[in-house]
Amino acid sequence: MTDSLSTHGFFRQLFSSSSDAIYVIDPATSKVLEANAAACKTLYMERDEVVNHSVLSLNKDVVGFEQWRLISQAIKEQGQFRFVGRHKRKDGSDFPVEVISDFFSHEGKDYIVSIARDISARNAHDTKVSDDDYIRTFVLNEASDGLWDWNAQDNSLFLSRQWYRMLGYGPDEVTNPTLNTWKDAVHPEDLEQVISLLQSHLEGNASRYEAKYRLRNRQGDYIWVHDRGMVVERDENDAPLRVVGMVLDVTESQLLAEKLLEHSRYDDLTKLYNRKTGYELFEKYLQISEHQPTEIQIIMLDIDRFKELNDTFGHVTGDHAIQHFTETMQSVTRKTDILCRWGGEEFLLLCPGSTKTAAVKMVNRILSEFSQTPFTTDEGIELHLSASAGVSSYPEDGHSIRGLVKAADTAMYKAKSLGRNRVCTQEDLS
Ligand code: GH3
Ligand code: MG
Ligand code: MG
Repeated sequence: MTDSLSTHGFFRQLFSSSSDAIYVIDPATSKVLEANAAACKTLYMERDEVVNHSVLSLNKDVVGFEQWRLISQAIKEQGQFRFVGRHKRKDGSDFPVEVISDFFSHEGKDYIVSIARDISARNAHDTKVSDDDYIRTFVLNEASDGLWDWNAQDNSLFLSRQWYRMLGYGPDEVTNPTLNTWKDAVHPEDLEQVISLLQSHLEGNASRYEAKYRLRNRQGDYIWVHDRGMVVERDENDAPLRVVGMVLDVTESQLLAEKLLEHSRYDDLTKLYNRKTGYELFEKYLQISEHQPTEIQIIMLDIDRFKELNDTFGHVTGDHAIQHFTETMQSVTRKTDILCRWGGEEFLLLCPGSTKTAAVKMVNRILSEFSQTPFTTDEGIELHLSASAGVSSYPEDGHSIRGLVKAADTAMYKAKSLGRNRVCTQEDLS
């Protein structure tokens, strides 16, 4: 090497004129320390939009610093790491890249140098290959978040690059995957059902295998997937030889569905169970009590002369009073009691395993607590509110939800007619 070639300037030029994107990254912070012109060009960015920014912002498949920490650790341990993923451009579009990262130390500092090659041209060329099978596989792979191909004879498992990417792994990180590689990643609570669905298809009882379950990603978090597959080859005895399937990451829609379900179970104002959920839980407890006889106390509570408060102070203040009453009840009830907002200013309290005497005592505590902690309006006016309650008991006063709720309601109206701010049981009705 001549003197001119060994100069700093020469290597700088080599770096800037490479047609592959080159990034120098600080493993500790994930910050790009240097990027060449090709890198900036592929990202549609200026140098200062890339340098000093975290590589996480460029990478569509690396989510969160924790995942970066694991990746940079793997690069350090292995010396080299290959990753097939997507890089994000400034305009939000993305393109497939093959990234080769190397770890090195210079003057006591650690660095990662990543060379990213845009492989969209390669992919486009691949699709032109006139091998129909290949094109179908390619399209399926792109349309899904992962393909798998299980050889039931030797238990080996092919998992596509997308599959690894979905879980945050590099394509070469998992060597010789088997069915156990996949099983190990399935959430323990879901495994039994997933295996039984797969088994049912393998035995010919279901026309295809289909399951929705949780898979553990590289970081140890779980994502939700929708997995579908089919036996594509059987032996002369009909035993499966090869099973192929595809998987979709449905985490986002699953979390949204869970959120909506949660939302539909609770009352917005008080965050208590709503009436629908109250019915469901009541039904569940009645079923349990049929097998393991236990008493259940049913308490209906209704705020006294609430209309007056609404008419005088307005609906918003009325809402706050309902919240205040809810908090008072929650401070007295047990963990095992179920409190629901049954209607406007009406609440149903279920106390499984409690006696009638204990229930009456508890209601009296609620009423005394309520009278001792006046509700203060936004204007600072203190209001002494009260409520009336009725109790019915399972199995003594009925066996159906309807009958028991009606009995508690009747007792509650009796409490109203006797002057309010009190609790009545069925005994008070005669
Ligand atoms: P009683 O002592 O007999 O129970 O008298 P009351 O005025 O409480 O009884 P009533 O059932 O006639 O009135 C209940 C009122 O509660 C009627 C309605 O305006 C009000 N209400 C119902 N739901 C809500 C709500 O979500 N927010 C507010 N602010 N008011 C509500
Ligand atoms: Mg009322
Ligand atoms: Mg009412």
